[in-house]
Formats: sequence, C-alpha cells, structure tokens
Amino acid sequence: MVSAMPACTTRIDLPTPAPGTQRTLTVHRYGQPGTRPKAYVQAALHADEIPGLLVAQHLLLGLEQAQREGRIIGEIVVVPVANPIGLSQHLNGRLLGRFDWESTGNFNRGFPDLTAFVLDRVRGRLSADPAANVALIRATLKTALAEQNAVRETPALKQILLGLALDADFVFDLHCDSEALLHLYAGQGQRDVAVALGAELGAAAILLEDAPGGSPFDQACAGPWRRLREALAGEGPVPLACFATTVELRGQADVNDDYAAADAAALLRFLQRRGVLAGDPGPLPVPGCEPTPLDGVDVLTAPAAGVLVYRKGLGAWVMAGEVVAELVDPLGESPGAARISIRTATEGLLLTRMIERLARPGQKFCKIAGREPLSYRQAGQLLED
Ligand SMILES: [Zn+2]
Repeated sequence: MVSAMPACTTRIDLPTPAPGTQRTLTVHRYGQPGTRPKAYVQAALHADEIPGLLVAQHLLLGLEQAQREGRIIGEIVVVPVANPIGLSQHLNGRLLGRFDWESTGNFNRGFPDLTAFVLDRVRGRLSADPAANVALIRATLKTALAEQNAVRETPALKQILLGLALDADFVFDLHCDSEALLHLYAGQGQRDVAVALGAELGAAAILLEDAPGGSPFDQACAGPWRRLREALAGEGPVPLACFATTVELRGQADVNDDYAAADAAALLRFLQRRGVLAGDPGPLPVPGCEPTPLDGVDVLTAPAAGVLVYRKGLGAWVMAGEVVAELVDPLGESPGAARISIRTATEGLLLTRMIERLARPGQKFCKIAGREPLSYRQAGQLLED
C-alpha cells in the first residue's frame, strides 16, 4: 500500500550537560510507522565528516518529492545531524568531531552489543516461521536497549540513535575518511546487498568483515542478527534481518552539490530496488569493484615523526613492496637526506590518505585495499581508534 502520510519531524532532547545548555536531535520520518521495509539514514556521527550532512539534505529533497508523488511504500527515518555534541567541539578554529571531549572515546565505537540479552530471552521461543522470529527478536532488541538507561549525554545520544535504527531493514551510517575514494563497510553475510549498493554509489571498494571490533554503529545494528543466527542455529531460522553499512563519502573536503546529489540519488534508487520507495530506478549500474576483506586492507603506519611525502595518489593501483610514501626528518643529517621509504605489504587500491602532512610515530596514514587477508591484521582490531 502506498502511503500519502506527510513527513513528520520530531525533536529529541539529549540530557542537559550543564545548566543552561541543551542539545537536540532532529528526526524526519516518512511513511507509516511500522511499515516495511524500513530504512534508516544518519549523517556525521563523526561530526567532522561533513559530506553526509549535505547528502542528507539532497536525500530529504528526494524523499519530499517521493512523498508528493505518493511513492513512499515502507518507512524511512533520517537523522540529518547525528552528532550535535561533536559538532560543537571546536579548538583553534577547527572542528574536531571524532572523539568525545567528555572522554567517552570515539563517537562511533562502544555501541551496546545486545546479543547476549536477546539470546537469553528468545532461546527456546523460536518457531519455524522466520518472519515470526524476526518480529520476536526485534521486539526483544528494543527491550534490551531500553534497559541500557544511559545517563550521560554521549551514551544517551548513542542509545537514541541505536533505538531509531535497531529495527530497520537497511541502515546507512554516512561517514567520510580524511582523503578518500567512496567506499563501504558491510558484513560478509550480506555481500550481495553490499555489492548492489556499491554499484549504485559507484564505490571504489567494498570492505567486508564480520568482526571488526570496537562495536561501531553498523555492527551494533547488524551484528546481533549474525550472532543470534549462529547461536540459535538448532532452534529455528534467523534471517539476517538488518543490512547495516558505513558509507565513506570520499574525503572530508569532498563536499559539493554534484557529489551529494549523485550520492543521494544512488541511495534513493537503492531504496526503490528494495521496495522502500516506488518508482523505476532504471538498470543497476555495473559494479565498479569486487568486495575485498577488511583484513586485506594494509594500513600504513609512520615509524617515526616526520614530514609525509606521498609517492602515490588516491586511486593508484600499487604492487606489494612499492614505496607509497616517504617520511622526511626535517632535522636529519645531512639536510634532505634523511628519508624513510614506506612500502605497502599488499597489491591493491590506494583508498585513503591522511590529509595532514606531518606524521607522528605510530600514526596510521594510508589504507590500501588488497584482495588477500594480511597476517598482521587481526579480527576484532580492524578499525582505527
Ligand atoms: Zn567516520
């Protein structure tokens, strides 16, 4: 059934962090609540990753049009500014929105894993009907999250965001890297959906991993389904009922209407193909890449402090052992001679580069997406800080 229900905008107050201050989360909803499929989109959970903020604006324009044309079939929830806390963090004229200044860490880590709670409560209650199991698990996930009872502002923000997304069929967490080509993170069990989305967006890479570690938002949404499916394999069918992806919308400075309009149109076409919106999306574009394992991403690390001089650009195909960058010691003897060559361990696509050109020892500054898992990359520790 096609809904003509108007969009609804609600505002959710976060806990007051100090007397006289209050931050608010704005949530736009399209379609009848509870209608399927449900899609959830949020922008800039890392608050200094601005491309998603503009993509969300173009997406909302497209959804308004779809609504005028009576093309909303499912439910769509959009949080156009996912992190008003991080957006307020300025220092020396710069926005720093990756880590919470209230010391709770990276804004996209430490989301609650509700698997154990749900497992305890649904064990012995599954049926042979996958749809009934999905409904039971979704309801139990909501109960589990409600019991979290976050008090501080950032944990409360995380609880609210997860609550909006937790029962969605499709979750899009819009991020970007420092300098980067467009790429996606998704679970291995949903490779086909990730490939279809990647084709729509023109992704240069699709990084698949089930256990990246750190409990980012996408894992908090999709991970319980995979773990419950494994743990309850003998009891009844548990579909992977939530596809959640982190979409890296290129680099921090890649903010323009051409990119944003194209990215939003791609998301809208994806929603059409998946039955969230009516309308003809046209033929699926040919995928620009094959998925590769997240543990095949070579993360280059600076061995010392120095000036970073790249020898390869974004999008370069590099061979294992090739020099990707040099590190120049500005106090080296003799002048200009003290350079350390940094080589990649894999053949692959140069996907991201750090925009700062002064490296600190141990700093991760470049990612190369290779096809083969790398021995030093460990499950559960695949994301940076
Ligand atoms: Zn991010």
